Amino acid sequence: MSSRIVVIGAGPTGIGAAYRLHELGYENWNLYERNAYIGGHASSHTDARGFVWDEGGHVIFSHYPYFDEFLNQMLGADYLEHERQSWIRLLDTWVPYPFQNNVRYLPQDALMECLLGLVQANQENAYEDTQNFGAWTTALFGEGIAKYFMRPYNFKVWAYPLERMDKQWIAERVSKVDLARVLRNVVYARDDVNWGPNNKFKFPLYGGTGEIYRRAAKRFQDRVHCNKTLVELDLAKRTVSFQDGSGDTFDAIVTTMPLDLLIPLLKPRQSALEDAARLLQHNGIFTVGIGLEKRIETNWCWMYFPESNSPFYRVTYFHNYSPHNVPDGRADIYSSLMCEISFSPHKPVDRARVVDETIDGLVNSALLQDADRARIVSRYVEESEYAYPIPTLERDAALARLQPFLMQRNILSRGRFGSWKYEIGNMDHSVMQGAEAVNFILNGAPETVWS
Ligand SMILES: Cc1cc2nc3c(=O)[nH]c(=O)nc-3n(C[C@H](O)[C@H](O)[C@H](O)COP(=O)(O)OP(=O)(O)OC[C@H]3O[C@@H](n4cnc5c(N)ncnc54)[C@H](O)[C@@H]3O)c2cc1C
Repeated sequence: MSSRIVVIGAGPTGIGAAYRLHELGYENWNLYERNAYIGGHASSHTDARGFVWDEGGHVIFSHYPYFDEFLNQMLGADYLEHERQSWIRLLDTWVPYPFQNNVRYLPQDALMECLLGLVQANQENAYEDTQNFGAWTTALFGEGIAKYFMRPYNFKVWAYPLERMDKQWIAERVSKVDLARVLRNVVYARDDVNWGPNNKFKFPLYGGTGEIYRRAAKRFQDRVHCNKTLVELDLAKRTVSFQDGSGDTFDAIVTTMPLDLLIPLLKPRQSALEDAARLLQHNGIFTVGIGLEKRIETNWCWMYFPESNSPFYRVTYFHNYSPHNVPDGRADIYSSLMCEISFSPHKPVDRARVVDETIDGLVNSALLQDADRARIVSRYVEESEYAYPIPTLERDAALARLQPFLMQRNILSRGRFGSWKYEIGNMDHSVMQGAEAVNFILNGAPETVWS
């Protein structure tokens, strides 16, 4: 008899697992999702005025042919392609991304500070010896760039002390700053951006990012069960139980719910594992959508905000991704700004004030004029309690206690908060983790994304 597989969660990882099971023609499985809708953090919602919002700006950075093909299957011709244009707002000016290569846009004093810091960091060459993300940032980029961009921006995103974060998740991907290149860009007034023809991304024409996963789920909808919240996982009986009193049996599980919430659901209770799970840290975000009855024509995609005159770390011109993200597809008269604001015990945010503070921040950052306040026709807020799994100094030791226990029992905890690894937490990674978990369960094929 074939193994019974249960998938928990209908975000990109759970949908990736389900898609693979369906593709293989496998029959003995079910997917259970807590929400009434599909997509998890990659879902999209339409507000009462007809504006479509993602949960924060979602851009596809695909690293995998399998994911590319999945996307082709889901979208067909229903997508638009954009060049990634991103900018940073500070000191009343706009600097193209990446910041360090374009410091020439800064006012003179700040430019000098950034260059001197970079020269000193280059001489000291000490970034490999640093022990945490905060120290690594300053040692690699120098005091100036750390002060103006890297440190304030990263605190705004992570809402967590940088000195208590590991550096490994980023240090493996970022190499030493090329000082000669930075100096050449300043002296010859050269723009050095990494957008251009090779940096395009696809975005669904209709329905926002969530459309990808809604379409996937339609292919196997008889196996997708919404409004099912997992409340117990019995290790001895090999059963799962849901809040509504229903349940299922399993031989293997792919679970994508937050790992720290899964562990207390195990029966019998595992107190040592619960201690380890408590070490896992996350932040939350508010997505604040501001819909305007005003045309904003731009080819910019998103902007970063390190300064304290706005609550958000990033704003996306969402009407630019698809005209169907605004009411009736009328991007000629409407526009939409999607703003992301992180929160945590280290950086509390008052939900009652977050929309007003966001609008003030948009005016302070020159994205809106004062007069535009009267043109705001939609104010959307979504709170995501789990947004970024934080790569803290304790994370890997905690995962090393949790994952082997689960793996020995054929419980594969995968995805953004299932694996708790930000560095493999994008949509392409997530779909791949789901598909590879299935390949592992059915054929013992090694997982290459999660390992
Ligand atoms: C602010 C933000 C910006 C992002 N930007 C990008 C981007 O630009 N590009 C990109 O590729 N990716 C981006 N991502 C990441 C993308 O959203 C994730 O890759 C993806 O959502 C992770 O998929 P997942 O299935 O692992 O987890 P989730 O999407 O979290 O799905 C998990 C599912 O499990 C369900 N669940 C939880 N508990 C239970 C329970 N007890 N019982 C049953 N079901 C349960 C949840 O409801 C959810 O649907 C972003 C994420 C955020 C938060």
